[in-house]
Amino acid sequence: MDYQPLLDDTRNYGIVNAGYAPAATGAPAMMAPPAVEPYGPSAPPASMFDNMPGYEGTMAGGGGFLPPPMPAFPAPQPMPGPEQPHWNIPSISEDTAREAFVLYASSKCCYSPAPAKDCVITGMEAFNTYRYTLETFTESRSTEWSHEPYNGQPVDAFTQPPPGAWDIPSKTPTFFAEGKQQIKVPYTSSVKACHNCLGTGHKPCKDCTGAGNKVCWVCNGCGYRHGNEQCHHCSGRGRENCSHCQGRGLKSCDVCHGKQQLLVFIKLTVKWTNNTDAHVVEQSSGLHVDNFSEVSGKMLFRDSQFMVCPVLGFPDSAIMQASQRLVSEHQGKYSQTSRILQQRQTIELIPVTKVTYLWKEQTHIYFVYGNEFKVHTDDYPATCCCSVM
Ligand SMILES: [Zn+2]
Ligand SMILES: [Zn+2]
Ligand SMILES: [Zn+2]
Repeated sequence: MDYQPLLDDTRNYGIVNAGYAPAATGAPAMMAPPAVEPYGPSAPPASMFDNMPGYEGTMAGGGGFLPPPMPAFPAPQPMPGPEQPHWNIPSISEDTAREAFVLYASSKCCYSPAPAKDCVITGMEAFNTYRYTLETFTESRSTEWSHEPYNGQPVDAFTQPPPGAWDIPSKTPTFFAEGKQQIKVPYTSSVKACHNCLGTGHKPCKDCTGAGNKVCWVCNGCGYRHGNEQCHHCSGRGRENCSHCQGRGLKSCDVCHGKQQLLVFIKLTVKWTNNTDAHVVEQSSGLHVDNFSEVSGKMLFRDSQFMVCPVLGFPDSAIMQASQRLVSEHQGKYSQTSRILQQRQTIELIPVTKVTYLWKEQTHIYFVYGNEFKVHTDDYPATCCCSVM
């Protein structure tokens, strides 16, 4: 065999496709690739989908959200929540404030613990605040055309009109726990030839472009090594069987898994979502409300029903306004595209203590807040161990 210049893989594949026929080397003959675009997108054509009464606009690929029908039963009337209990505004002790501060300083790898341990606390002021939280637990439904390899599943298209998407029973969700369920819409399943392999069950192998063999990687196709020595790997053939397809040149179709046929059906996706919004009443301590998302407070009020009423009679009017606004926003927004299954509103009292302390004759402040005694400070006096203290 003449020495051939080294070609890159792509160009070799080109030569293979142009009609490389293995000589008398025992390699399998090249199979003609099926007349399909071999590696193109495997999106099914629209002609594969039947017209299903009630599901005319259904697309492949998802996103078809269906607004819920008007409920047939009268919506339960929201009831005012339970009476407001009395509560004591919790205040933390100096020991708790210091412990929290020491813990905070030790959690920062570069902070010296000395100021937290040894500072002189000169003032503690409470700025307790309220957080109103509204959760709206919804169910949404969407449909899309889908398919799976046909293994003898029941075929029921056109035996009856399919039920409406909101009439199909789903599992009973746990309130406020998010989840998802996928269901085949009854009476929409039919069997179609696989669009990806045109019903042959296989596709040309990508690694050898359907030839079943490729250029020997040891001798790069020349058949020789070290001058005249025959290549042991390919016995001088210059080519080796493709290991990805065992020399067949074909691989099983990954859409129908070689079954040649697909079960085509409308897939219903039922999704349960907990939509949560909170409002924290501004306080004048200087601690930003964004900090509160990480902490919990003392639960003062909890009300859970199908649809809640805005909170009335609470001592802080900002909480009542937030409740009014969020209840109306949620009930308007979420009943458009989904079905509200349950709402829950809570009011927490979040303790906030502003601590003033002296360290090296300078006054600093930090905040202790939440049930977790979380600490926030902007001016810790020794934020780097390397700094001179
Ligand atoms: Zn070789
Ligand atoms: Zn192959
Ligand atoms: Zn296929």
